Amino acid sequence: MSRDILVATTNQGKIQELRDLLGSEAHWLSLSEVGIDLDVEENAPTFAGNARLKAVAYAQASGLWTLSDDSGLVVDALGGQPGVLSARFSGDQSSDRRVTDRKNSEKLLALLEKVSESERTARFMCCICVASPDKVLIETQGTVEGMIAREPFGQGGFGYDPIFYLPNFHKTMAELDSAEKNAISHRGNAIRALKPLLGEQLKGG
Ligand code: IMP
Repeated sequence: MSRDILVATTNQGKIQELRDLLGSEAHWLSLSEVGIDLDVEENAPTFAGNARLKAVAYAQASGLWTLSDDSGLVVDALGGQPGVLSARFSGDQSSDRRVTDRKNSEKLLALLEKVSESERTARFMCCICVASPDKVLIETQGTVEGMIAREPFGQGGFGYDPIFYLPNFHKTMAELDSAEKNAISHRGNAIRALKPLLGEQLKGG
């Protein structure tokens, strides 16, 4: 029988992605299935630190192995910003995520207005942590490299996808379909790195 692992996110898309890529490895449970809702302050300075904070807090509260992730955009010309502040970069408080996403991208484009093409390099990063109630079991990381476009293109994805240009595809992330995005994305890469490590942990315990 496969082990129950709680996924500490309210984002159904992330749970589906885990079920698609690692469905056979474990039985992935959502927070609503387990009936837990904690308020974990994501105040670590790194993606890895925030993923760890959430995984450990939810594992301790639920008694279950728990997977958590933290992700965001790192822009070289801005010294790594927006980084761990990616979700709240513009300071917008709207409850409509599309409004917040648009304002975040607008702020970034304004800050990069005078930055030349060759200096617009950036990457999405995703850190994943799996913890048991008493220890951190696995940590992985995935990235995808790109450039910040001058204006948004494409309707797919979310967040900064419309301004994240992939030179190899001649498209922004928002112009890829979800299967194409998952195949190259930071989250897809972090999940693929997790697969063999999770297999080992599950064999051991
Ligand atoms: P979280 O890890 O899901 O909380 O993501 C934090 C923020 O990073 C999101 O609100 C987005 O602004 C940004 N972000 C993370 N992953 C992506 C992505 O795949 N595409 C676009 N933006 C992303």
